[in-house]
Formats: sequence, C-alpha cells, structure tokens
Amino acid sequence: MNEFRADLHCHTTSSDGSMRPVDIIRHAAEIGLKGLSITDHDTINAYETSMPLAKELGIDLISGVEFSSMYKDVSVHILAYSFSLKNPLIHEFCRLHHARRTKRNLEMLNRLNDAGMPLSESDLQAALPQDAPYLNRIIGRPHIAQAMINKGYVFDVQQAFKRYIGEGKPCYVAGDYFSPEETIDLIHQAKGLAVIAHPHLVNEGDTILKLLKMDFDGIECYYSKFKPADHKRWVKIAQRKGWLITGGSDFHGDLKPMVSLGCSWVGDVEFAPLKARFLENN
Ligand code: AMP
Ligand code: ZN
Ligand code: FE
Ligand code: FE
Repeated sequence: MNEFRADLHCHTTSSDGSMRPVDIIRHAAEIGLKGLSITDHDTINAYETSMPLAKELGIDLISGVEFSSMYKDVSVHILAYSFSLKNPLIHEFCRLHHARRTKRNLEMLNRLNDAGMPLSESDLQAALPQDAPYLNRIIGRPHIAQAMINKGYVFDVQQAFKRYIGEGKPCYVAGDYFSPEETIDLIHQAKGLAVIAHPHLVNEGDTILKLLKMDFDGIECYYSKFKPADHKRWVKIAQRKGWLITGGSDFHGDLKPMVSLGCSWVGDVEFAPLKARFLENN
C-alpha cells in the first residue's frame, strides 16, 4: 500500500504499552506506516531512542504525549502534539504528573491491601515489562492490574478493572489532577496543539459539550474501535469548529491485545498541519 498513513496515538514501555519505543518504530515501518506520533501517558521519554531510529527508517515521527485531566469528576484525556521535545514546560508538566501518579498509586495499593489483596512495591516493579530498563517510567492501572494477575487476585486485566480498579470501583483512586483548561493552557504555552482524545469515552452528562466549548485545536475523529458512522460524527464537529482532525489506534501491545498498531490512522492532509507545527518548533 502506497497510501500515506499516520497513526497518531500509541503507547510504549515508557508508559503502559508492552512494546519498546524502538520496536514500535520497527513495527510501524514493517506495516507500511509513513507517519507516527508516540503518545505515552505523561512522558516523552520514548523519543530519546525512537527519534533517531525513525529518521533512519524514514518514519515521519512527530512529538506527542497523552495527559490525563479531570473535568469535575470525569476523566478527560488530552493529546498534545508538535511541541518541542526540549520544551521545559512540557518536561516540568510530565514531572508533576509523575509525582501525582506516585502518590495515587500508593493510595491504590493501600486500598487493595485493605481489600485483602496486598501488593508490594516490588510486586508492581515485577509486573513491568522487564526488557525495558527505563528510568522514570510511568506506572499506571494496567500495571497494577498485571501485578494483581501475577498474584492470582484476578483472572485478567478486564476483571481487575471491572471489580476493583476501574473508575468508581472500590480500589480506584483518581488522585490530584489538572483541569482540561489548565492542560490546554500549558500545551499552548509550549506552542503545541491540544486535542480531545477518544471523545466517545467522554460520555458522562454534558462533559463533551463543555469540552467542545474549550480552546482545543483538534479532536481525535478516527479511533481504533470507531465505526464509520462514528468517524463522520466527529469529523463533522471538527469541520464545524475549524479544528484539526486527528486519529490513531491507541495501541498498547499485549496490554490491549485486540488493538493493532495502524488500525486507525489519518492521511497526509490531516498530518500536514501537525507536521508543519512540529517543524516550526523543532
Ligand atoms: P491510568 O492512567 O493509570 O488511570 O490508567 C488508564 C489506562 O488504563 C488507560 O489508558 C487504558 O490503557 C487502561 N484502561 C482503562 N480502562 C480499562 C479497562 N476497563 N480495561 C483495560 N484497560 C483499561
Ligand atoms: Zn494507556
Ligand atoms: Fe487515553
Ligand atoms: Fe492512549
């Protein structure tokens, strides 16, 4: 296939993906993707090793990261693109998120302990993919779920989320969060583009309507499990607002086995404005 395809949403072992950054670049090249953005949760560490290899293999890699935020009680994921990989504001924001997660994970381990499912710090470390010896890795609920499986507390990841650590479940802790507005503002200060991630997952009350009134630059219109009718809905909204149309798989490797890299993507028309901004900043 010669068509230009760019997957703008995927995770590596720097956060809760199971594939190392360099392996994701090799895989992208193998399946014929021409463009890519790695959007780990709250970290841009993956770019250190992936960017040189992307250049070597001719993959058009642009900066990205997925920040968690909270609108009232609803979790809202925000994708940032095209900022400078050296931008100090982005680095500091990632650091703050890292600290927030450390505290939140401890609180979740306490709740699991109270529920009769003790997990030590080393149980959690052992649940991380062992071939990825990165410093400052982002540890999230999928890792906690894996540690629970290893201990025999649950049968699989879905069960861990459904019974214990999914939103609203007894061992779930939201922790401290930034608001979407604060997150957008930070991304703009860093000269990046702020995009609403997987808008169909924001289905609590009127949250999506509130988000659509905020100062976003784009919306993720193509997503792994969307049907064509869903694409149309979000594309129409983006066009009406004059926002960027983005899309990607949200690939996590083994941690989300039904989703493959490149199963959702954008073409060169949608990729061009993100690439242009990336070149301005880098
Ligand atoms: P965290 O950022 O630590 O709150 O974890 C959120 C991540 O957990 C998401 O990005 C997904 O990768 C994963 N996740 C969320 N809900 C589920 C679920 N029901 N089953 C499996 N994975 C999930
Ligand atoms: Zn994730
Ligand atoms: Fe997300
Ligand atoms: Fe994601």
